[in-house]
Amino acid sequence: MGVADSGGIGGGQAAPDLLVAGAGVAGLWLTVKAARAGLKVMLVEAGNPGSGASGGFLGALMPHGPERWNDKKQFQLQALIDLEDEVARLESETGLQCLYRRSGRILPLSSERARTEALSRAADAQANWGPRFAWEVRHAADIGGWPDMLRAPHGVVHETLSARVSPPGLLGALLASLGAMANVELRLGVAVTGVLPEGKAARLSDGSTVGCGHVALANGVDAFPLIAQAAGLSGSPLGSGVKGQAALLDAGAAPELPLVFDDGVYVIVHENGAVAIGSTSERDYDDPVATDTQLDDLVARARALCPLIREAPVLRRWAGVRPRGVGPDPMLGPVPGAPNVLAMAGGFKTSFGIAHRMADCVVAAVTGTAGPDLPESFTVAHHIAKAARGGKTLKARD
Ligand SMILES: Cc1cc2nc3c(=O)[nH]c(=O)nc-3n(C[C@H](O)[C@H](O)[C@H](O)COP(=O)(O)OP(=O)(O)OC[C@H]3O[C@@H](n4cnc5c(N)ncnc54)[C@H](O)[C@@H]3O)c2cc1C
Repeated sequence: MGVADSGGIGGGQAAPDLLVAGAGVAGLWLTVKAARAGLKVMLVEAGNPGSGASGGFLGALMPHGPERWNDKKQFQLQALIDLEDEVARLESETGLQCLYRRSGRILPLSSERARTEALSRAADAQANWGPRFAWEVRHAADIGGWPDMLRAPHGVVHETLSARVSPPGLLGALLASLGAMANVELRLGVAVTGVLPEGKAARLSDGSTVGCGHVALANGVDAFPLIAQAAGLSGSPLGSGVKGQAALLDAGAAPELPLVFDDGVYVIVHENGAVAIGSTSERDYDDPVATDTQLDDLVARARALCPLIREAPVLRRWAGVRPRGVGPDPMLGPVPGAPNVLAMAGGFKTSFGIAHRMADCVVAAVTGTAGPDLPESFTVAHHIAKAARGGKTLKARD
């Protein structure tokens, strides 16, 4: 791999087949997958890899509910299943650890209605998740205090599909993987500022223009205006940022403990026993990276939920801005009117579980081969139509 701080392609170098903007979890997976497919890739990152929303420490890999099945849930399910093998391959290629574990998840049930609903979903899980994964309604969690029984007066759901991964571990392995490939060039400290109308070149912040076969916009919340520009749109934005705050606790917890998710609070034990707590969901904010009393409240709620972490000291507080399209679904694939420009944006709260499969879709579009089925609600056209209708009000739990 070549690494450069800035500058255009020169000196007779062949133009890349694919220029990727953004080295978060989306752009890194895309670069690795495209390079594995034999494409010559230039990855352009405005700051450093992981300097956007992917630079946190949550790494929850939680499925959508098993009820009211649709192609978006199927896409995510397949992604969550495949990630286990994807991580194993990355680890064996690089010798690095992503600290992945399918730990499962506990959902406390706080009302009889919630319990009845949960019971009805067991059959949905069996039908839609298949026999490998369970959704069981129990009277209490297996481990006392995880969560507190008083928080689960009507029992718990224990599902075995959820997993977690270490975000820095995964990003490190992806970087090491692309670092070993001769057909990847990494440009740090330079931003993509625009895409030429036909999508066969990108303008960079250092004043250069790089010719290429395709451009993929995987630059997080900053992808939305570039996608709109490539589609020749002005007016309603195609997406926005939703800030999230999170904390990491020095808990010395057993790494096999399941995730706990209750009323927007999630608690994730990592392989080293540290416990991550997430996350706030803020549409309005002044400082995208500041943490404040909303995080204090979240930590207090998590401590009440899981007494095992009641006294655990806080190691780190962090905030980032999630890329959210006009709807909560990812924005993926060719940009209408600019077929050589591909979107890989809007992963919102789910990117760590699905970015590898999103990357397969983009690579398939570039190489003209068969890839995973793309749900209609993921297409850029769907998002553009939604934006034209005025989008949709963000629900509290989106
Ligand atoms: C508090 C919090 C908790 C979260 N928890 C989870 C979780 O548990 N599980 C989960 O799956 N997801 C979670 N998410 C969401 C997840 O982090 C995001 O969906 C994901 O990181 C988005 O990845 P990305 O690569 O699309 O964008 P980013 O990670 O934001 O990466 C975009 C990159 O593009 C670069 N860039 C920007 N503009 C340009 C440009 N013009 N040219 C070149 N480069 C550019 C940026 O510097 C950045 O490095 C969480 C997010 C937050 C904030």
